[in-house]
Amino acid sequence: MEKVKNQIEELKKSDPFADPEHVSDNAAVDTDVREQVGHEIIEAQIKDLDKRVADIKAALAKIEKNNYGICDRCGKSIAIARLKLIPEAAFCVECENKLRK
Ligand SMILES: [Zn+2]
Repeated sequence: MEKVKNQIEELKKSDPFADPEHVSDNAAVDTDVREQVGHEIIEAQIKDLDKRVADIKAALAKIEKNNYGICDRCGKSIAIARLKLIPEAAFCVECENKLRK
């Protein structure tokens, strides 16, 4: 949990838009483009990590309610192998596959 939060902080720091000199510099156009691309990649990574944090919070809430490892969609147990890989998984493999379609 803390690890993911730290990752988000690190990413925010590496965002070129977070550089206070960015606003005042008169960078060449190609530099601006590079900064823009970097910014978008970082934004996407932050979004992914934010989602992970939300998933982890949801998993923790499920532990409190004693239904951790139960699929949110079909109510069956999520395979242990899957939970080992993705501890915050909210759905069993079957439901995850159906939801992704
Ligand atoms: Zn399911």
